[in-house]
Amino acid sequence: MRDYLKFYIDGAWVDPITPKTAEVINPATEAVSGHISLGSPADVDKAVAAARRAFATWSVTSIKERADLLEAILAEYLRRERELGEAVTEEMGAPLSLGCGFHTMLGKGHISTALEVLKNYKFEEQHGATMIRKEPIGVCGLITPWNWPMNQTCVKIAPALATGCTMILKPPQLAPYSAQILAEILHDAGTPAGVFNMVQGQGSVIGTALSTHQDVDMISFTGSEPVGVQITKDAADTVKRVGLELGGKSAWVVLDDASMTTNVAGATGGMMGNSGQTCSAGSRLLVPAARMDEAIAAATEAANGVTVGDPTGNFAMGPVVSKAQYNIIQDYIQKGIDEGATLIAGGLGSPEGIDKGWFVRPTVFVGNNQMVIAREEIFGPVLVMIGYADLDDAVAIANDSNFGLGGYVSGEDLEASRDISRRLRTGAVWVNGGFDFGAPFGGYKRSGNGREWGEHGFTEYLEIKAVVGWSAG
Ligand code: NAP
Ligand code: MG
Repeated sequence: MRDYLKFYIDGAWVDPITPKTAEVINPATEAVSGHISLGSPADVDKAVAAARRAFATWSVTSIKERADLLEAILAEYLRRERELGEAVTEEMGAPLSLGCGFHTMLGKGHISTALEVLKNYKFEEQHGATMIRKEPIGVCGLITPWNWPMNQTCVKIAPALATGCTMILKPPQLAPYSAQILAEILHDAGTPAGVFNMVQGQGSVIGTALSTHQDVDMISFTGSEPVGVQITKDAADTVKRVGLELGGKSAWVVLDDASMTTNVAGATGGMMGNSGQTCSAGSRLLVPAARMDEAIAAATEAANGVTVGDPTGNFAMGPVVSKAQYNIIQDYIQKGIDEGATLIAGGLGSPEGIDKGWFVRPTVFVGNNQMVIAREEIFGPVLVMIGYADLDDAVAIANDSNFGLGGYVSGEDLEASRDISRRLRTGAVWVNGGFDFGAPFGGYKRSGNGREWGEHGFTEYLEIKAVVGWSAG
């Protein structure tokens, strides 16, 4: 049992001002795995006051001082990486191989990338007689979701620290454990009191208290579109900067010259990873209509080959995060059936032989882009395959979405693939796989307005000051 009942404020573990606890449920077993405290706006006030005090000194530290801290955090993170991964598995159900693999690798990557960017970052640049300074924006509220907890916390905390900001983290109720360990890591690495603070609790209470707070300068949020909209409205009265990383319905275009078998199988397997709970997942798979039969065969085989079970065992896919998410996904699968999509793998209910935990069957539909299952983010292991007539049609289908987070192209002809990448209205396109911690990540359209990762991620936490007349004449 993990009982994490204290908050981290001003360099110390403290009790909530008004005691109130909530159970945390293991999604694989439905058993209570521990408890957290649910904070109140008074706890947020305390944390914001600490962050404000710390800002006076942290904001004027040298690059070297901040780099030294990031290095110490990285070392401490590496020391406790296994523990972090196990916490991720317990809280949100990712298989251990993923929790202790890609999940913690992403967090580590954001810390080390921020460290490298910081070492050479130009906080001052002279343009003529004017000095343009980039200065930390101030006290930041970081509100994160449960689907890639270490990715989403580290991608905010590392650049915020690197730029000289101070912060209050509000972790998700569904994934509070890894955040707690991360706070211990920051403490043990010697983060000065007040620079980093963490208050657990409900988004509608803690998140709102941060968004509306007079003394919070910016909010960085990752999560759902409705909450992003609410935060933006809540933050408007105090004219905060709000960085939003929201959902997606990303298209994966397989070109006619590519191997249907390999690429469709790869895209299908990719969709099922992390139980489909990835904002940038390629959830619409676009294949040449003339080769749909081949694609169906490959997708069916790939989906049926995804093993589902106990995340601490040897399975490719664990449960989804909560009963509520399970029910939402079941409703979408029913919707797909009702609107006439062809179910070629998976379907309603849990996989055979599983009667505990929120396990969903790896599901693949063949449908069209007007269907609800092709328009809304399902956030579960559900793929929709859509046939396209030619490349113009593929681009039109891909761009016919409210979202604009990611895009994928698989093709032998690199020029043709690049051409598609230019025409997709999305914040990122991955051509034939590839991975880059330095590549900016964020959305067009309703997928958000910010850019995280690498050097671009620093911009979110920086104000720009012009000092005109810096040089005489
Ligand atoms: P969510 O409701 O948007 O929650 C994300 C974070 O915001 C959580 O920490 C949440 O707190 C907090 N929050 C909730 N209401 C808030 C408010 N009024 N003001 C400030 N903060 C608030 O996302 P979710 O419930 O975790 O997932 C729901 C859907 O969001 C998913 O089905 C998926 O479509 C989408 N999603 C997208 C991403 C992404 O990476 N783009 C990630 C996760 C989810 P609590 O702890 O109380 O929930
Ligand atoms: Mg929610």
